[in-house]
Amino acid sequence: MRIHVDPNKCTGHARCYGLAPELFDVDDYGLTSEKGDGFVPPELEDRARLAIANCPEFAIEEVPGN
Ligand code: SF4
Repeated sequence: MRIHVDPNKCTGHARCYGLAPELFDVDDYGLTSEKGDGFVPPELEDRARLAIANCPEFAIEEVPGN
């Protein structure tokens, strides 16, 4: 599975980072981006889905086909 944070939707609650710090980078304003190329190892997929479900801006998406 692979994830992507849409920078146009993210408003910086860093809720995703709080749920899965292994999967996100945070900048000085609390805006996040997927770490690296967004690849989610199988053991972190549950938390990736939790982060997706808890983003109030619907800014995190699962990249189809990965
Ligand atoms: S939870 Fe959503 S809006 Fe908040 S920092 Fe993460 S991606 Fe951005």
